Amino acid sequence: MVELGQKYIIEIEDLGHKGEGVGRIQGFTIFVDQGIPGDLLQIQIKVLKRNYARGEIVKIVQPSEDRVRPKCPYAKNCGGCQLMHMTYRAQLDNKNARIKETLERLGKIKTKVEPILGMEDPYRYRNKGQFPLGKMGEETTIGLYQKGSHNIVDIDKCLIQEPGNENIIAAMREYIKISGASIYNEATGKGLIRHLCMRVAFKTDDVMVIIVTKNKNIPQKEKLIEIFTKKVPGLKSIIQNINGAKTNVIFGRENIKLYGKEKITDYIGDIKFNISPLSFFQVNTPQSQVLYDKVVDYADLTGNENVFDIYCGIGSIGLYLARKAKKVIGVELVEEAVKDARENARINNIKNAEFYTGRAEDLIPQLYKEGTYADLVVVDPPRKGCDERVLETMVKMKPKKIVYVSCNPATLARDLAYLEERGYKTMEVQPVDMFPHTAHIETIALIQREIS
Ligand code: SAH
Repeated sequence: MVELGQKYIIEIEDLGHKGEGVGRIQGFTIFVDQGIPGDLLQIQIKVLKRNYARGEIVKIVQPSEDRVRPKCPYAKNCGGCQLMHMTYRAQLDNKNARIKETLERLGKIKTKVEPILGMEDPYRYRNKGQFPLGKMGEETTIGLYQKGSHNIVDIDKCLIQEPGNENIIAAMREYIKISGASIYNEATGKGLIRHLCMRVAFKTDDVMVIIVTKNKNIPQKEKLIEIFTKKVPGLKSIIQNINGAKTNVIFGRENIKLYGKEKITDYIGDIKFNISPLSFFQVNTPQSQVLYDKVVDYADLTGNENVFDIYCGIGSIGLYLARKAKKVIGVELVEEAVKDARENARINNIKNAEFYTGRAEDLIPQLYKEGTYADLVVVDPPRKGCDERVLETMVKMKPKKIVYVSCNPATLARDLAYLEERGYKTMEVQPVDMFPHTAHIETIALIQREIS
């Protein structure tokens, strides 16, 4: 019997879907944070449940041959990266194995899994940073949440974020010191500054800083602009976002421009994108092109196809495909993103793309009822996967091909199983590593209609 507080020696056999090590003591499943397959560890049991326990590493008895010292000094505490203590090669191999296993176990999908497309240099890839602020005694903390808690790990830089984040964090510290601006407290709901966010364009080097505050107040605004413009090269925009709600959601609805432009501009391939503060844009710019090129490859368009881009964000995939299609119809929930999508079609001189605002589960059945159809459907849903009404309508619409871009293998498996039961077959999947050093897995699936 495994007992709470007791110490045990355990061999790690596998990784769980959150990147935690998994091993067994007398057949009982134990999750060990930062354990990796091949590690022999001394652990102490910290949480004991009926079906599993969680242990903490006391000592590494024999490290796995895939174990490395993380480059980032905060890796041990920070909840941002779960796999930095593993060689990049082992991370990739593990993601490949995990997608294969998840598709088979949860969806009974047996299909060809192509080797994951990784990065040559898997650091400094993120174009977006979202850092909460807090207080530790008198000191202001800026950083990332600790694993499994809302304690903030105070950081000066983040190694998976593009290098300019150091200047932005430093500028924020200086502004808070000089202005005495208060820091929001999650527990009491008091205080002003909640989050420091940033977006960086890789091609143009445009930088946008977004400061999330509880209300419209911003003490010493002129000083803030002076500090940020002096410290942050490439700064094109400072936006204040107001979030008065007591919630975990980072952004509120209202944006106030404090400095510069409303949007920044970046490119994927030769398509130009204007990006608003709240619109979704893939966080890994270099790998976005790898991802979209694979979508183009799977789509294999001739120029005669009607294409749906469901969950389209600022229209990135649809616009990437538009020049090879007859027509593209994009559907997206966030109105600001749809406005960006229309503007992006215009600035790229793409005339065969239309975008609609609304919930895909309402709009897709409505478009189908009106007689709109697609030869190719691209879906790129959030983590919870496609709404069943979207899948149901797709099956009725009978597109020859579906390209499914997924950030969650579990919901991908569920949705592929739904489609396979209704006349579709998963031909192949291609994982793309959009999130090195984290446990997240992005996958593209090519699905074809087997019966007409
Ligand atoms: N394809 C885009 C965006 C993918 S992210 C790209 O590659 O950049 C998923 C998108 O789905 C987000 O923009 C989110 O706002 C949107 N979304 C979430 N729920 C939705 C729903 N029910 N209906 C339509 N869009 C939704």
